[in-house]
Amino acid sequence: MRNHRKLFLFLLSFLLLIAACSSNASTETPPTEQIFPTNPASETPAPVAETPLPTNTPPPALERATYTLNTLIDYDAHTATVDETIQYPNLTGNQLNTLVLAATPNLWDGSFVLNSIAVDGQPVSNFSLTSQRIDIPLASLLPPNGVVELRLNFTLNLPFAEQEDPGISRPRIYGYTNRQINLVNWYPFVVPNINAEWTLHDPWYYGEHLVYDPADYEVNLKFADPASAPIVASSGVPEALPDGSIRYTIESARAFALSASRDFQVSSTQIDDVTISSYYFPFYESAGQGALQATLESFQVYSQVYGPYTHKSLAIVMGDFNDGMEYSAFFYLSKGSYDLYDGTYANLMTTVAVHETAHQWWFEQVANDQALQPWLDETLSTYSERIYYEKTHPDLLDQWWWYYRLAAYNPQGFVDIPIYEGQGFQPYTSAAYRQGAYFLEKVRERIGDEAFFAFMQDYLNQGRGRIVTGNDFFRILRAHAGSTDISDLINQYFRSVYQ
Ligand SMILES: [Zn+2]
Repeated sequence: MRNHRKLFLFLLSFLLLIAACSSNASTETPPTEQIFPTNPASETPAPVAETPLPTNTPPPALERATYTLNTLIDYDAHTATVDETIQYPNLTGNQLNTLVLAATPNLWDGSFVLNSIAVDGQPVSNFSLTSQRIDIPLASLLPPNGVVELRLNFTLNLPFAEQEDPGISRPRIYGYTNRQINLVNWYPFVVPNINAEWTLHDPWYYGEHLVYDPADYEVNLKFADPASAPIVASSGVPEALPDGSIRYTIESARAFALSASRDFQVSSTQIDDVTISSYYFPFYESAGQGALQATLESFQVYSQVYGPYTHKSLAIVMGDFNDGMEYSAFFYLSKGSYDLYDGTYANLMTTVAVHETAHQWWFEQVANDQALQPWLDETLSTYSERIYYEKTHPDLLDQWWWYYRLAAYNPQGFVDIPIYEGQGFQPYTSAAYRQGAYFLEKVRERIGDEAFFAFMQDYLNQGRGRIVTGNDFFRILRAHAGSTDISDLINQYFRSVYQ
């Protein structure tokens, strides 16, 4: 235990080190809370026979975008060649004359080589690629509910994911190490169009800056040298194709991630029709199994108290870097937390595993603007750790979790800050994650368990497949608080006014 505490303090000082360096405060003005965009698919009542749809607005041919990524990876050369086809339905309610895509690999010099773009089969050259953004003008207006096909061919030259001084930059994920390649945010995707604005924020030192519409993915993967193909962990369910390639599919997903290593060992378990797999490096079997067990337990808890998981697989991946990160049906855990794993449930790896599992509800199902309102998924995922411990290891809740995950950091500040105003990693997570968890605890005490969990379930049901805002969160919360006044708690923890 003493050893554990020593390691914990070491980790704490490591995090503080990160905090110390990321103190560049943004001078941007605080974001104003936006009205939740109307989603015609779920909010417009079905038309009755007397009022047919206007002939110029047919119903959407596609419920959401589809991405097909025919991908050839040369593992030893650290390259990927991708033929990408996007079927994009215009669900914005407005005519579109341009599409905006995020292409974050282009943030690394020479990593992203865009070979060609075609729109509805016609090659286009008048697009612009600047930093992480591609603007593609459309030759003709795309009407509401119309579908456009984009085809992009590109090559990724994976950068070495150098783990620099954590005092200077956050741990790197995208790229390769000597025992892993990590493809995250690796393909261009059409960014959400919210209130007639394309939503693509600037990257930051910590936190996530991308916002995702849900989409269906089919990734057809081949390796240049099939004989030495690595073990692959991905967001999708695999299916072997006759030509030797593997097809991975997932529906209504936010971000398709893929990690591969020749060193991966795999442990899997089945719950109902979902396969949960833990991928870890040699000599970490105990921690790899511990991650699987904690993930399974939290998966059961969240399925019960929130609502069902929506995919068929879930991959837990030991990253060859020190960061935990969520993607669709996939998350990384930091390699440092595997080193700290002590076989108990009172350790960082367990808490982060159940935190990242919670993101499969709060991020994956109910999405939010991760740059401007990061608290929406982080507060709920942090508080989900509390719910996991109370349901499965209640003895550790008071003895351990409240102090080590929350109180030890002496969290301060308003919950609803954008990543750019976090004043460093430590103050940012203390506010958006930990203060948020304290807020939810006080709300729960005030309104009672029944109303609180009814709120969580309702929030999941109303938000599933959408990008929600703070206004949505508080509208649903107030509805469940009923006549119980929680305005003093909101005023204490939140700086913006929510309708
Ligand atoms: Zn998180």
